[in-house]
Amino acid sequence: VKESGRSNHRFYDSEMDKKSYGKFELERDLRKALEREQLLLVYQPQVHVESGAIVGVEALVRWKHHERGMISPADFIPIAEETRLIIPIGEWILYTACRQNKAWQEAGLSPVHVSVNLSIHQFQSPGIVENVAHILRETGLAPQWLELEITESIAMHDVEQVIRTLQGLSDLGVKISIDDFGTGYSSLSYLKNFPIERLKVDKSFLDNMIESPKERAIVGSIIVMSHSLGLKVTAEGVEKVEQVQLLQELSCDDAQGYYFSRPLLPDDCAKRLAENAIYAGG
Ligand code: C2E
Ligand code: CA
Ligand code: CA
Ligand code: CA
Repeated sequence: VKESGRSNHRFYDSEMDKKSYGKFELERDLRKALEREQLLLVYQPQVHVESGAIVGVEALVRWKHHERGMISPADFIPIAEETRLIIPIGEWILYTACRQNKAWQEAGLSPVHVSVNLSIHQFQSPGIVENVAHILRETGLAPQWLELEITESIAMHDVEQVIRTLQGLSDLGVKISIDDFGTGYSSLSYLKNFPIERLKVDKSFLDNMIESPKERAIVGSIIVMSHSLGLKVTAEGVEKVEQVQLLQELSCDDAQGYYFSRPLLPDDCAKRLAENAIYAGG
């Protein structure tokens, strides 16, 4: 009896150890992931709804852990943010995405923008504007081909500071879009003060728009409002042809999702971009 009690206890302890070791290990390994070249970027096409042409690609980070296999950014980006590792990692992501896009352009593929996700800490880090400018110079990518995706939660921070940073980035010629629109701080009033180009309507609205007239009305209203403010709209997480048809009726500019393409390795993305000339008439 005692024996089994003790082993239960031991089992419990070792589970606890494993958990805390797991998190420590993850953080330690994340520190080394960059130098060990375990991080890579995949690219998901963004498609012009009316013509079907690819107009952009979103860079999405992947971590190929030596023992654990692929780790989702949803699992390690929060840890990177907590530990501020997001700063060097975010710089690597920006640099790699810009360099890749420049390489595609030099290879003669029809030019598209590359969208890069900026975490809130990265956006707020001092010198972010200079950093982006430096990366554009280093890679030779013209600024209009870089788009930065920021979530609307930035609006909850020091608004003056946020606008200064957005203006600095916008002055470089870089484009800015609001990611996951509709899920966070949903006051629309701040939008008119932000130098932004685009809203990305969150997947959650797209998921229900076929069945639910209300969700469809929300998406439609976001599109109408955006256009009247001079903003473009990208629909996220589009998986079905019915969604594409509705988005066409609602005059949504661009769309992204598994219906068009999963995120692709660079070589596969280059192939898609090469086919793109047919649509783009190039
Ligand atoms: P996000 O920026 O909203 O990116 C879209 C996510 O939805 C991606 O997941 C993408 O693979 C997925 N997705 C795209 N189309 C579909 C679809 O049709 N159906 C479904 N079910 N999913 C779709 P991923 O790559 O796992 O990224 C998750 C989140 O991690 C991103 O959400 C973003 O917040 C963060 N993240 C990813 N890459 C980066 C990065 O380079 N930097 C930063 N700061 N965050 C990143
Ligand atoms: Ca995004
Ligand atoms: Ca998103
Ligand atoms: Ca999201």
